[in-house]
Amino acid sequence: MRITDELKGAGTIAVGGHVRPDGDCVGSVMGLYLYLKKEMPGARIDVYLEQPPEIFDCISGIKDIKSEFNNKTVYDVFLALDTTPDRLGGAEAIYDRARKKINIDHHISNTGYGDVSVVEPGRSSTAELLYELMDPAALDEEIAKAIYIGIIHDTGVLRYSNTSPRTLEIVAELIKFGFDFSKIVEETFYEKTYLQTQIMGRAVLESMRLLDDRCIVSVVSRRMMEFYQVQPKDLDGIVNQLQSVKGVDCAIFMYETGTLEYKVSMRSNGRVDVSKVAVRFGGGGHVRAAGCTMNGTYHDNINNLCLAITEQFNEAQE
Ligand code: 5GP
Ligand code: MN
Repeated sequence: MRITDELKGAGTIAVGGHVRPDGDCVGSVMGLYLYLKKEMPGARIDVYLEQPPEIFDCISGIKDIKSEFNNKTVYDVFLALDTTPDRLGGAEAIYDRARKKINIDHHISNTGYGDVSVVEPGRSSTAELLYELMDPAALDEEIAKAIYIGIIHDTGVLRYSNTSPRTLEIVAELIKFGFDFSKIVEETFYEKTYLQTQIMGRAVLESMRLLDDRCIVSVVSRRMMEFYQVQPKDLDGIVNQLQSVKGVDCAIFMYETGTLEYKVSMRSNGRVDVSKVAVRFGGGGHVRAAGCTMNGTYHDNINNLCLAITEQFNEAQE
């Protein structure tokens, strides 16, 4: 399938992604936006997304993103990327009103939504899948850069096991456009502010190991976030840091989002399917990276998560 085949005759098109957008979400949404502006010059293309982290300001057109969702526009087509409709946040109502709904995703927990659904869990990233739906001859440096950012963010810079030979072939094609990929990797993936580094240090220092040291857990309270003057987006990367501890099969990081409410991120080396654990608590994701929101004290949440993880450990042993 080519994406433009599904958009024939459309005069108004909206593109959106999930709440708290990450690199794959922002890269995919912006890559598609730039592509459609070029390929469908007669159509109006709008992007709806929560304000992305500033590290993505290097993506062309990023300031065109609309983060106000209270309009009544009825679009001919809404393309939801890297998400299920329930995680579109404020854009969900715009999606619901659209005449045609297209879903493009790589999350194993996405069972398919809308009029056209392309969900391929074998893909490293939504950005990689999107590349396959585009005409390679229509790409340019700015589109390639956005897709590249999506791929490297969901593969930990081509390091995680979701990286396939096809992923690398696509990346090879993308970097031929000549953007400074080394600078992009450094500035969007590795570089942290001093405060981000400090709170990561604090979270690692205060972590604890459970389940015979196979599981590592850390929690950041709202008070700690206020002390360090950080936002949720400043906590990206902490769970990966925890997962890199030798002997750990599963890392859990949670931060407080409200009274007795925590956002949970989980990572695994494949011995536990954390998407199953997340789905159990109303979330989703992939085998090795998943998340959910949980209510209750963090002690209760850790207990409940550990019970579900223990079941997974036992299942894997059988
Ligand atoms: P992260 O821990 O980096 O926020 O998310 C890891 C993966 O799990 C991502 O693919 C993300 O989309 C997914 N994920 C995280 N939180 C949730 C959630 O609350 N619901 C669902 N369905 N997926 C989530
Ligand atoms: Mn993704």
